[in-house]
Amino acid sequence: MTQRTPHTDSYYASTRNDTVDRPILKEHIEADVCIVGGGFTGMSSALHLAEAGFKVVVLEAARIGFGASGRNGGQLVNSYSRDIDTIEKNYGMSIGKTLGDMAFEGGNIIRERIEKYNIDCDYKPGGIFAAFNKKQMHDLTEQKALWERYGHTGLELLDENSIKEQINSGAYIGGLLDHTGGHIHPLNLLLGEAAAFESLGGVIYEDSKVIEVVRSETPVVKTEHGQVTAKYVLMAGNAYMAGLIPELAAKSMPCGTQIVTTEVLDESVAKALIPNGYCVEDCNYKLDYYRVTGDNRLLYGGGVTYGGGDPASIQAFIRGRLEKNFPQLKGVKFDFAWGGDFLLTMSRLPQFGQLTPNIYYAQGYSGHGVTTTHLAGRLIAEAMKGHAERFDAFGQLKHFPFPGGRLLRVPYTAIGATYYGLRDKLGI
Ligand SMILES: Cc1cc2nc3c(=O)[nH]c(=O)nc-3n(C[C@H](O)[C@H](O)[C@H](O)COP(=O)(O)OP(=O)(O)OC[C@H]3O[C@@H](n4cnc5c(N)ncnc54)[C@H](O)[C@@H]3O)c2cc1C
Repeated sequence: MTQRTPHTDSYYASTRNDTVDRPILKEHIEADVCIVGGGFTGMSSALHLAEAGFKVVVLEAARIGFGASGRNGGQLVNSYSRDIDTIEKNYGMSIGKTLGDMAFEGGNIIRERIEKYNIDCDYKPGGIFAAFNKKQMHDLTEQKALWERYGHTGLELLDENSIKEQINSGAYIGGLLDHTGGHIHPLNLLLGEAAAFESLGGVIYEDSKVIEVVRSETPVVKTEHGQVTAKYVLMAGNAYMAGLIPELAAKSMPCGTQIVTTEVLDESVAKALIPNGYCVEDCNYKLDYYRVTGDNRLLYGGGVTYGGGDPASIQAFIRGRLEKNFPQLKGVKFDFAWGGDFLLTMSRLPQFGQLTPNIYYAQGYSGHGVTTTHLAGRLIAEAMKGHAERFDAFGQLKHFPFPGGRLLRVPYTAIGATYYGLRDKLGI
């Protein structure tokens, strides 16, 4: 019997709602659309396409949700990793307006999915951006005005007293509460979307790594034991897809980030940490992000390893950060510690486009991908149905290689991050 690839040993994998092994592709089949990668980009697109009547096959190298989508902080962060004013400045008001109008759609898609397909994924509304200093607070005030300009209401500035009511930590001087942010158990969201996709006739193969995509008029997607001939292909392997899109390799960089979960805390202890159950990310360049899970653990993530991978001890790395914010949890037991890779671009904006007229790609959400992957799925389905205007608005964004080439891009980027980290410490 073939050995199946396990999930990484995470809190999410140990509390997932579905432990089914999907089959390995061992034949030659045909489909309207073949999707390479079973993360949020792939599964969100698959579900939108199946809803539109397409015959869709998803090929996943390991297990669906094996990558960042099944390992992340679970935070529904609105907008993009580069905010709309920078897009307006760098790409012009017209592209800024088109992208700005879509900036809050991904979160709505997730809420619609949860409701429509009755997905059990511990959804809780509300997310806080927490500021350590006046400069960060000033930026949050500007962000609120900017997002309101794009019609996003439901934002609330928190002063020093009000943030202490929301987060039992002395670390912050204020923050911004986004009532339409929130958090989910990401692997269970993904598995719920997969079940919805399958209920519409969609087919998923696991342990079926794509080794070649033949870029012919009718593309052929090859795995070790089988192949799919499809009218359209979507490349959705993100940071885990080394080598399949060589023309984009220099313009993106895998980066690691790590998470721990504590043991289950007494309900009163968990509630005292974040009384209204919001998720939190701070405003530092290398930010920390945390929340209380459905079963009352503190789930705490942070840091970035440029080039991907994990530090020698994830637990030691996160413990210092966690205990600085929450000294009341000093010595708390960790039950799980894991890492995962996301894909960074120079502009911090995602890369959407076409390798040929019928081979699409979407990747590079630069650390904030839970909502944007869901937007991506809708835009890809629109494009394959012949309405590419919104997909093409992302496709027009210019992407540049990281300086330093393959050998030096990691140290160069790390030096840049150290500079911005210093600015965070100095509050400038
Ligand atoms: C630890 C961590 C915490 C994060 N926290 C947050 C957060 O709180 N909020 C937020 O918005 N974003 C967060 N992110 C980012 C977010 O998770 C990602 O942007 C998003 O999940 C990317 O989804 P994806 O489907 O594009 O890629 P992935 O989820 O990585 O999926 C890619 C899939 O493709 C498969 N694959 C790769 N190559 C092949 C191949 N050759 N053949 C077949 N399959 C292949 C992989 O096995 C994988 O399953 C976090 C990321 C990490 C790593």
